Amino acid sequence: MTDLLKLGALASTAIIDALPDWAAAERLIRRGHRAAYLAGLSERLNVPLDSALLSEKRLSRAERKEVDSLIAAELKYWKGFESEKADLSQGQTDARAAMYGRATRGTYSKARWADWDLPFHPTEGSECLSNCRCHWTVEDNGDGTGAATWHLGATERHCTTCPSRASDSPYSVKRQ
Ligand SMILES: [Zn+2]
Repeated sequence: MTDLLKLGALASTAIIDALPDWAAAERLIRRGHRAAYLAGLSERLNVPLDSALLSEKRLSRAERKEVDSLIAAELKYWKGFESEKADLSQGQTDARAAMYGRATRGTYSKARWADWDLPFHPTEGSECLSNCRCHWTVEDNGDGTGAATWHLGATERHCTTCPSRASDSPYSVKRQ
């Protein structure tokens, strides 16, 4: 399995290092999310990440649209961040910049589990935001339904929402 924590951490570091070149940092955000999306896709399709089948050029129109809209949503926050940069200390800037690398875990999860109508994804809708290290697994019942389990991140200081997601597991989900 792709080490998503590592990918997120590498992306965070790269983004912080790129600043104050905001355009370069933005390119890294795009690249990080594309990499996370492809990683998720490779696991979903069970195709090695370095396979030619998985090159970005081979993404379907729907997949391309999805990854573009995920990136666009991130960049909206990023633009807000950039507009506030003058008011932020170096430490605050670095901390916020790092979130954009870790947010790639949400993109990975959406690509990995795109076959299922999961109710939410890591880094979303929880107080821990991009610090979330939780992940899904889905057991396929073979009849178009599945049982989805939310696994708490191992070293995460848990927020309020994630433990309740874990205790509410398994969720009944459908193939989409
Ligand atoms: Zn979490």
